[in-house]
Amino acid sequence: MTQIALITGSNKGIGYETARLLVERGFAVLAAARDTTRGRQAADALGATFVQLDVTDDASIQRAAAAVQAEYGHLDVLINNAGLIGDHAEARGLPSGTTREAVRQVFETNVFGVISVTNAFLPLLREASAARIVNVSSEVGSIASTTDPSGPLYQLVGIPYPTSKTALNMVTAMYAKELTEIDVFAANPGYCATDLNGHAGYRTPSQGAEVVVALATGEVEVPSGKLWGDLALLGKEGDGVIPW
Ligand code: NAP
Repeated sequence: MTQIALITGSNKGIGYETARLLVERGFAVLAAARDTTRGRQAADALGATFVQLDVTDDASIQRAAAAVQAEYGHLDVLINNAGLIGDHAEARGLPSGTTREAVRQVFETNVFGVISVTNAFLPLLREASAARIVNVSSEVGSIASTTDPSGPLYQLVGIPYPTSKTALNMVTAMYAKELTEIDVFAANPGYCATDLNGHAGYRTPSQGAEVVVALATGEVEVPSGKLWGDLALLGKEGDGVIPW
């Protein structure tokens, strides 16, 4: 039977590429986006179905879940991809310059949005035989990686975005403990060239989407409740799990 996957923030970047790869694999993709015009355009180009969903707007989340319930009655895969780095100049600055508002803005989308969307879609995921949730996180949320003086992420100093992904990693671990019947993964796409970082990343969004897709499809069987990076490393040194 055709599996149904919903991806938040799928109108561009890693979310768009994740949607494209899942359509290629025969999934019925519900391409969610907050902006109707750009979302519909993307969904049409992808051969997917557009769903309006702003992860910071509970009414929009509830409408989206109700629409999926009415049309399909269940959901096999939820990909919490929507995310932002923050508009505030302080968001990219030092902890001492960070404001409450800068942190709140990023957490609203990257953390609170994931929890609201997940809980709204859980009843539909519970109707699937082997549902999976993939939270698109980042190694910049790893305390182990960002505090290792010999590692490349040691140079990173900032609060809103990194701590939002640290929180998302814990959110992933906690859902994985509660939802023993649903696999819950965090995925690290690596540094990809997208609007999020002014296209500074050295990977393509499609390369970044690969780990998300591997976890979403169950192509690679790995334990729930962990942050996964390069799954090509499975069984080798480092084996793809990123330390918290
Ligand atoms: P992107 O190209 O800027 O895409 C972000 C997507 O999230 C857009 O579709 C955006 O929609 C959507 N979004 C933002 N706020 C939203 C909201 N309130 N409701 C619904 N959708 C919303 O960035 P990206 O690099 O592909 O990022 C995708 C995910 O990958 C994020 O979670 C990011 O943290 C993560 N990630 C990225 C990198 C990287 O190097 N790029 C590395 C690690 C993790 P609009 O077009 O309407 O703004």
